[in-house]
Amino acid sequence: MPSSPPLCLYCNLAMGPADPVALCGACWAVVHDGCLRRSGRCSSVQCPGDPATMVAADVAVVVGARIAAANAEPATCPECGGVTEFGCLIPPARRLWLRRTPGIWFEPARESAPPARRRSGWHVAGAGLPGRRCRSCRALYLAGLPLASLRSPPGPALPYCPRCGAPFASGCFDLRRYGSGAVGFVPQAPPGTSEVRGYRATPDRFALGGGAPPAATIAGQCCPRCRFSLIAGLPMLGLDPRSGGSCDNW
Ligand SMILES: [Zn+2]
Ligand SMILES: [Zn+2]
Ligand SMILES: [Zn+2]
Ligand SMILES: [Zn+2]
Repeated sequence: MPSSPPLCLYCNLAMGPADPVALCGACWAVVHDGCLRRSGRCSSVQCPGDPATMVAADVAVVVGARIAAANAEPATCPECGGVTEFGCLIPPARRLWLRRTPGIWFEPARESAPPARRRSGWHVAGAGLPGRRCRSCRALYLAGLPLASLRSPPGPALPYCPRCGAPFASGCFDLRRYGSGAVGFVPQAPPGTSEVRGYRATPDRFALGGGAPPAATIAGQCCPRCRFSLIAGLPMLGLDPRSGGSCDNW
């Protein structure tokens, strides 16, 4: 999601686009290739990942390919047998300032604390969720999983942000924090493909279920400092507000 080149998690120095770097496919931490050789393992705390070496400019391509692969299924909706399409889920943004900075609300989970009267979380500006939507019944799938199944995190939580090293918060992204319950979905070509898809400037809005919503919240992790976010083990895509809500490349 960061628009500026991330800093190396190991040495905290910038990485130029032509620099050899190592990308961890488990936590998405990026370090200089030399820093990987010095440390001998992923620099993210408790990460068992095996980072792969590449040129820094290719990191976005590799991440985009992983996101596309994870969202290639289901091509046919298990609910109704309809055809599904790739696109980007866009949370409602009814307030004026949020129209300019679309995003999603994150609320960290609180252990053993009494429920807070006021909600304590933060707005993750520009966050968009790549996924698939059934053209017939409008069921949503993120990383191949039905939205309703993503209420609890599928894997072990990372203690520290793989991007900046700050304590990494586990909690829920709230799709309906700002609006009426309608969530936008913009069909588009999966990252890394040359497929041309008709672009809709106005997201196709639909209610998240007329009766019981399939999921108002999605479990994940988010960094309080740099806002790097993971859902179903995948980093969130950025949303470019200038293009009316299209997902940009990571
Ligand atoms: Zn480094
Ligand atoms: Zn890692
Ligand atoms: Zn369906
Ligand atoms: Zn961070």
